[in-house]
Amino acid sequence: MSGARGIVVAIDGPAGAGKSTVARQVAGALGYTLVDTGSLYRASALVAERAGVSMGDQAGVEGTVSAAVARGALRLEAGDAGLTRVLVDGEDPAEALRTPAMSMGASAVAAYPGVREALLEAQRAFGRAGGVVLEGRDIGTVVFPKAELKVFLTASAEERARRRCDELRLRGIDADYAVTLAEVRQRDHQDASREIAPLREADDAVRVDSSNMEPQAVVDAIVALARGRGAV
Ligand code: C5P
Repeated sequence: MSGARGIVVAIDGPAGAGKSTVARQVAGALGYTLVDTGSLYRASALVAERAGVSMGDQAGVEGTVSAAVARGALRLEAGDAGLTRVLVDGEDPAEALRTPAMSMGASAVAAYPGVREALLEAQRAFGRAGGVVLEGRDIGTVVFPKAELKVFLTASAEERARRRCDELRLRGIDADYAVTLAEVRQRDHQDASREIAPLREADDAVRVDSSNMEPQAVVDAIVALARGRGAV
């Protein structure tokens, strides 16, 4: 899989482990393209919501999302500075994807095989040439099982809820710690217990627990691992 353009770095782990920040900085340090695969699931929930399809309607969501992918109404494209962005009906939904409702919606629709299948090729298309960091839940287990470096980034549920509250408050959204912790646990449960592509650590992943680590230390550790696996 490795070539002139570099290796595939898969960063998987539960919500709130710091994957987004860390993956962005690792990609920046290596000069790699970043793919935030969670945004595809969030966008899928948004597409369903806009179509008036309930998140619990599996066949409805699967049909709506695969049709949207097929006609290009839901897609991933290269953005500035090595970033990629998801477009819904030609527009970047940005903040609309990051609400608690879309977090829960994404987690619900991600349990549907038809949704995962519809999004698989978009993810592979970006990683195939190498020189890419993909962050998600099943990158090392399903999307790129042969990735040169697989990192499973985790942190305690309490620490993840604290970080999530801070992040929401920074964006002006009032966040209650107890409610956030309950949401983190519910999402963990949903993500780990679903039948298809449950969140699990790949056998050959390097486990990094960020509970007591500064983000920069996590980034440095992953960049060093990537260089050890052939990234230049
Ligand atoms: O990472 P983020 O919180 O944006 O992901 C939103 C939801 O999308 C997760 O809770 C998870 O259920 C789902 N997801 C997934 N597989 C991925 C990325 C995200 O199932 N590769």
